[in-house]
Amino acid sequence: MKSRWNDEEAARYEGDLGLRVYTSRLLGQEKSLVLHGGGNTSVKIRERNLLGEEEDILYVKGSGWDLETIAEAGFSPVRMQHLIDLSRLPTLSDPQMVNELRTHMTNAAAPTPSVEAILHAIIPHKYVDHTHADAVVSVTNTRDGEQRVREIYGDDVVIIPYIMPGFDLARLCAERFAAEAHEGTIGMVLMNHGIFSFGPDARTSYERMIELVSRAEEYLAARDAWQVPQPAPQSYGEKALREEIARLRREISEAAGFPLLLVSHRDSHCLAFAQRDDLERITQQGPATPDHVIRTKRLPLLGRDVAAYTRTYRVYFEEYAPQAREPKTMLDPAPRVILDPELGMVTAGRSAKEAAIVADIYRHTMDIILRAEALGGYQALPAKDIFDVEYWDLEQAKLRKAGSPPPFAGEIALVTGAASGIGKACVEALLEQGAAVVGLDIRADIQDLHEKPGYLGLVCDVTDEQQVREALESAVRRFGGLDMLVLNAGAFPDSRPIVELDTTHWHKVFRLNLDANLALLRESHVLLKQAPRKGRVVVVGSKNVVAPGPGAAAYSASKAALNQLARVAALEWAGDGIRINTVHPDAVFDTGIWTEEILASRAHHYGMTVEQYKTKNLLKTEITSQDVAVLITALLGPIFSKTTGAQIPIDGGHERVV
Ligand code: ZN
Repeated sequence: MKSRWNDEEAARYEGDLGLRVYTSRLLGQEKSLVLHGGGNTSVKIRERNLLGEEEDILYVKGSGWDLETIAEAGFSPVRMQHLIDLSRLPTLSDPQMVNELRTHMTNAAAPTPSVEAILHAIIPHKYVDHTHADAVVSVTNTRDGEQRVREIYGDDVVIIPYIMPGFDLARLCAERFAAEAHEGTIGMVLMNHGIFSFGPDARTSYERMIELVSRAEEYLAARDAWQVPQPAPQSYGEKALREEIARLRREISEAAGFPLLLVSHRDSHCLAFAQRDDLERITQQGPATPDHVIRTKRLPLLGRDVAAYTRTYRVYFEEYAPQAREPKTMLDPAPRVILDPELGMVTAGRSAKEAAIVADIYRHTMDIILRAEALGGYQALPAKDIFDVEYWDLEQAKLRKAGSPPPFAGEIALVTGAASGIGKACVEALLEQGAAVVGLDIRADIQDLHEKPGYLGLVCDVTDEQQVREALESAVRRFGGLDMLVLNAGAFPDSRPIVELDTTHWHKVFRLNLDANLALLRESHVLLKQAPRKGRVVVVGSKNVVAPGPGAAAYSASKAALNQLARVAALEWAGDGIRINTVHPDAVFDTGIWTEEILASRAHHYGMTVEQYKTKNLLKTEITSQDVAVLITALLGPIFSKTTGAQIPIDGGHERVV
């Protein structure tokens, strides 16, 4: 591991706290040191308060901040003297400790200090850095880990046996440090947890971390335990997996009690790991460092027997909950990591971001396990220690802080014709309400419509059934299933009287407005049937279904046929709990087909201004794509949970429709 320190960059950060921010970010950039909120750092600064008194303040990482992106506001200032006094108490409960930390800050608006604040305070060095370095936990999670740590570091570090983070750990560290630290001590290794480094200035403390971790990496490399090769995995060819994945997702969501996304990772590394003969032994022990448990659960599910997994989880809860000091409420028993020889690694989350965090953590876990195995055998902490962290009040608080999830959290929507107009507005509205969204369009720019992890844009000609099947397969591999379908893609051809309407043109319009939607419905049914909260479909019809216009025979007839198709689907699929409703928009002018010129010419044709033309309805109101998207998301949501086969106009009121 190389130091990322750069004098020029460092010069842009001012003062002791500025440099604390700088080297914290350097640690955060190194994924093999800390992942997603893991690790913490601090600096001790002498300050003058409002009364003119000098005080030592510990600036320690606030909870909820990530080292990679931390700013000065992410450090909580706590009075040092109080922290030292606290460290001398015989005991301190977690809620008491949090209360003491919060009430001894010098800035009421600062975040809650890290639970490791007292530990940072008792280390008698200005800068303190703490990570869960992969290389170090690879070594400590082995049978003779402590001996190996001694071998690597001699007496440059103080070694602390595993104890749960919080007050007891701080106390133990204070004792051991007082007894064992000397002039040459540059770090502290916490067995099965991570490593601390410290120093008089930001650079020294940071570079000691890099040096200590490098020594562990070299130790592993010298024993062929750093880059551990895996055999090539067995390939399953191009077999469609969407039905199996969607079924697995339903079972996992049912076990959780809410819908979850499932993201499949089928690269050769994940497949090879999931196909190992010793998978059961090496993965059914526990995480590499305890705080991963709140993201990954203690154990991954091997294969697809969700019921067996939840039974085992209940047994685990019932075994350890009675030993806890306070009564505990069981968390959902659903797995977050699934290892399957055919599916590779599958990770679950209420959002694509959450599932990605789980995947990041477990990728590192796989490497750590492989390294520890190469060293002689992975050995994680006993289940009770992991339980204590999983059901720790303070970890629970981190999760609660996330608040209640958005309405479509954990659900997947697919929208056709999604690159512009109503389709594009639907994609935005659905993303905003927490759904993962797959946008299909024939336009190439569909792929870059959004950067969010919860969005997948696919170029697809929906009149090609093979392309539709491939799009569904990609959607399910990315997000795990399909809950909502918005059939929006359609053609609005130029005005053409029947005497001039050739059959080729007629068929072309029908292929897109009708046939494509039949294929989409037919191919989606098996997936919608597996939706944890039941499938929903919204069909974008047209005012022309009820009130056709001259010159629009192909359009009006195809939309009327689509309307009838949707009604039959509502009848046929009600038994599967799938709802199908139709919206009939009219005069939505902010779509691709309505250019300024066309608008002006249509307005002129009716002897109106453009403004009058846009609002020529009973309510004299303009209808936008967004208005239609709001109605469509409402139809997909709980308000309409008891409605199917309905047709709802969104046209500002039309004389021939009313
Ligand atoms: Zn830690």
